[in-house]
Amino acid sequence: MSKTKLAAVRGMNDLLPPDAPLWEWFEARVYDWLRSYGYQQIRTPLLEHTDVFVRGIGEVTEIVEKEMYSFEDRLNGEHLTLRPEFTAGIVRAAIEHNLTYDGPRRLWSIGPVFRHERPQRGRYRQFHQVNVEALGFAGPDIDAEQIVMLARLWKILELPRLRLEINCLGQADERARHRADLIAHFERHADALDADARRRLHSNPLRILDSKNPEMAPILQTAPRITDYLGDQSRAFFERLQAQLAAAGVQFVVNPRLVRGLDYYNLTVFEWITDALGSQGTICGGGRYDPLVERMGGRPTPACGYAIGVERVIELLRQSAATAPAPAIDAYVVHQGGATAHAAFLLAERLRDAGLDVVYHAGEASLKSQMKKADQSGAEYAVIVGEAELAQGAVAVKALRARAADAPFAEQRTVPQAQLADALIDALSQDNEEV
Ligand code: ATP
Ligand code: MG
Repeated sequence: MSKTKLAAVRGMNDLLPPDAPLWEWFEARVYDWLRSYGYQQIRTPLLEHTDVFVRGIGEVTEIVEKEMYSFEDRLNGEHLTLRPEFTAGIVRAAIEHNLTYDGPRRLWSIGPVFRHERPQRGRYRQFHQVNVEALGFAGPDIDAEQIVMLARLWKILELPRLRLEINCLGQADERARHRADLIAHFERHADALDADARRRLHSNPLRILDSKNPEMAPILQTAPRITDYLGDQSRAFFERLQAQLAAAGVQFVVNPRLVRGLDYYNLTVFEWITDALGSQGTICGGGRYDPLVERMGGRPTPACGYAIGVERVIELLRQSAATAPAPAIDAYVVHQGGATAHAAFLLAERLRDAGLDVVYHAGEASLKSQMKKADQSGAEYAVIVGEAELAQGAVAVKALRARAADAPFAEQRTVPQAQLADALIDALSQDNEEV
């Protein structure tokens, strides 16, 4: 047998128990928040036919060009890809199940996505997104609602100082005129282009605007702006969006260079950015993608959506004051082995019947070491099933956290088994009143 140590794939993280409460706290808030806007959950497979993403995301994008985990299933020769984003899979599912046949749909998802990028802080090869899509809505009211709902989420999570940037990419014909001028501009400055930009010059020049290379900043500054190419309809759409954001009290800046990576976007694009995470500061990006559903084989369906990078939000939560309380368990049940272990096992079940969160000490150990485990577990109370008490139909209870001297079970006390659940529930509710 090989002695090399097994390790996780580079850039793919384990979520370990100390971090779990924060993720659970975040997810619980996200579920409630999405429900408050009428979004329904959809779960699509992690694996899709590679074509779903090639057609859905576009061939000349960062993701499809170099970030996808694609492989041939050696059992049947199918070309498969681990999802690098949600939208394409959700649109595939919406078409396959005819989800918009009786009207538009608000859909959301959460889960891992996979991109073969260089791992660094805030950038991983498996990461998680909360993904939100509104299918069948022409906007701009739904665009505004999606942005406003994000402002609400940041408030719920108490995330400070997030910046909202928006832009309007217009329609295909407007982008075509902009694109021609953009290529001409970059060709005039060909010597200032980096290798990436030169490669994209004719395939995806818009994406050059997205470059983070500081050496290109001057020619990006002077590049033609999409907002100068918008016709009356697109301009009116963008103005209505801005008016609705302003009316809802959501601040934003128009960033004419904001284009986003995927080439199916039209009209609205937006990003939420923080300065607290270094260079990986975008925590959410989205926009309108009216052409996509038809492009993937469905009926023309206007749509708008966004994705939140969960790891980056969790990192912000970790930095902010509003840390999630670790959910404590109510009782830890210890025993003296033999018949008391059996009784403790059943007693723990009775307590759970009464709605309590209970850990039973599995296996045998000295009472002293069990009490230590009880203490470390974070439980509020230890329930001690001893031989002497059991013979009387009773158990002992001891509070584990520091408490006032007159608090229930501040001193160890015996309680008849039949009254144990009620006694614990009373004690826990008194604890809550004191907090
Ligand atoms: P970037 O320009 O940083 O690569 P992107 O445009 O590829 O971002 P999106 O496809 O819009 O990102 O994904 C939505 C969100 O998912 C991002 O705003 C970010 O918060 C998060 N995200 C993207 N890539 C990663 C990654 N490799 N690791 C962790 N989070 C990521
Ligand atoms: Mg990327």
